[in-house]
Amino acid sequence: MGLKEYLNDIVEAVVTTAKGMRITARYGLDPKEETTLQYPEERWELPERYRGFLHNDINTCISCNMCVKTCPMDCISLEAVRGADKKMVLASYDINIGRCMYCGLCVEVCPPKSLKHSLGYEMASVNREQLILRFVQEDASEVKARVARQVAEAAAKAESPAAGKPAPPAKGETKE
Ligand code: SF4
Ligand code: SF4
Repeated sequence: MGLKEYLNDIVEAVVTTAKGMRITARYGLDPKEETTLQYPEERWELPERYRGFLHNDINTCISCNMCVKTCPMDCISLEAVRGADKKMVLASYDINIGRCMYCGLCVEVCPPKSLKHSLGYEMASVNREQLILRFVQEDASEVKARVARQVAEAAAKAESPAAGKPAPPAKGETKE
């Protein structure tokens, strides 16, 4: 390398460094160019259609299983039993947000639109169990037992035409 090329390299290095520093200075000094926030004290305003954590309104959910079948990541699991009025009753509805890739397919297929993305995105945890969102707070076995009791009561009522009246004495039983 000749002296001329050597000096050219030095000049070029100084010029490109100056160009870079000019851009850096602009971002550092001009408040209009601020691109960072003092998180968590400040937060960006999220777009209306932001895909945050999923939320299921279990009072509207019809336990159709469509979301479970559609999810490519197997994040959703549910248990449901048929109630006395023939409608399905959710015994459990869980979403593992640790596996979710926020594709929105489950939301798209939900017939009553009970499943939606919320704007929530903050949930750091060192325990994977805590990343499972449980939407039915009651224990699944208790829900199933309660619904089974209601179904049995409804069936007994339907079988007895004199429902609500005292049962006639059984054969061999005498009235007092
Ligand atoms: S958003 Fe996608 S990955 Fe997440 S639960 Fe729904 S279907 Fe599964
Ligand atoms: S698709 Fe919707 S209605 Fe059907 S089980 Fe999932 S959340 Fe419930």
